[in-house]
Amino acid sequence: AAKTAGRNTLRFFDPAMQAVVSARASMEKELREALREQQLRLHYQAQVGRHGELVGAEALVRWQHPQRGMISPAEFIPLAEATGLILPLGQWVLRTACQQLLIWAKDADSAQLTIAVNVSARQFRQLDIVEQVLGILQETGANPQLLKLELTESLLVDDVEDTISKMEQLKAAGLCFSLDDFGTGYSSLTYLKRLPLDQLKIDQSFVRDVLTDPNDAAIARTIVALGQSMGLSVIAEGVESAEQRDYLASQGCYAYQGYYFGKPVAIAEFEAARIKTFAS
Ligand code: C2E
Ligand code: MG
Ligand code: MG
Ligand code: MG
Repeated sequence: AAKTAGRNTLRFFDPAMQAVVSARASMEKELREALREQQLRLHYQAQVGRHGELVGAEALVRWQHPQRGMISPAEFIPLAEATGLILPLGQWVLRTACQQLLIWAKDADSAQLTIAVNVSARQFRQLDIVEQVLGILQETGANPQLLKLELTESLLVDDVEDTISKMEQLKAAGLCFSLDDFGTGYSSLTYLKRLPLDQLKIDQSFVRDVLTDPNDAAIARTIVALGQSMGLSVIAEGVESAEQRDYLASQGCYAYQGYYFGKPVAIAEFEAARIKTFAS
């Protein structure tokens, strides 16, 4: 019995678990450094309209790690959320996206392009998020009308009144809002209809098999119909083929994002691909 108890006690000092804990701690330290040492990068992915015209881009963060190379946000956003580093990281993303808007503003062919920025629930729950966003807009001189914030349904599980009030203040300044990964979260339609949204974004998990899985097709169709009846635009993410785009268009979805139109890339590549791919 003593032996068993000893073994059970020892489980807490499992070397594998300790490795996980210390890997997390060192990644947190490195992510802090990444912010300080400017190792974060923004990649841009085209958002396309009805006739294949470029309407804007989604800004997606990457971590250019000095040893490990480019790290995807799926690997560090959860840690950033858990540690609170998402707050300075989110500000950096917003500021960088706004600086890009200002660069585009000086070029007639680009002056109408929008940028969509992902804002995590923890970030949006900050008491002063409205002041932060407006401050960054003011400081950079970017046009608020060209900045779209992508929120997720996780904001609807708690203080909805607070979320609505912040959204309204930002909308009054000209920003617009898209609900990202729509259909994967917990939103109740009661709350959804009260949010001052501009756009629903069909999650890529429904787009992937939209041509072969009748359930996914039904969900995509339903989101489009819901958006239409609520007066919201609908954009599909994860569009990888012309056939998917055509199906979505046949259901009334007229805005798209996905590898078919372009992968997320650094701004120089985005500008280069644009000349080849999109009519201006
Ligand atoms: P998301 O906002 O839903 O972004 C869409 C993700 O789908 C991106 O992954 C994009 O590269 C990927 N994607 C786009 N088109 C296709 C396609 O046709 N096929 C497939 N298979 N994938 C496609 P990424 O860049 O790895 O970002 C993952 C998630 O990380 C984002 O999902 C977003 O939730 C989060 N994220 C990225 N940047 C930021 C940020 O600046 N702040 C916050 N809070 N979260 C971010
Ligand atoms: Mg997004
Ligand atoms: Mg998404
Ligand atoms: Mg997604």
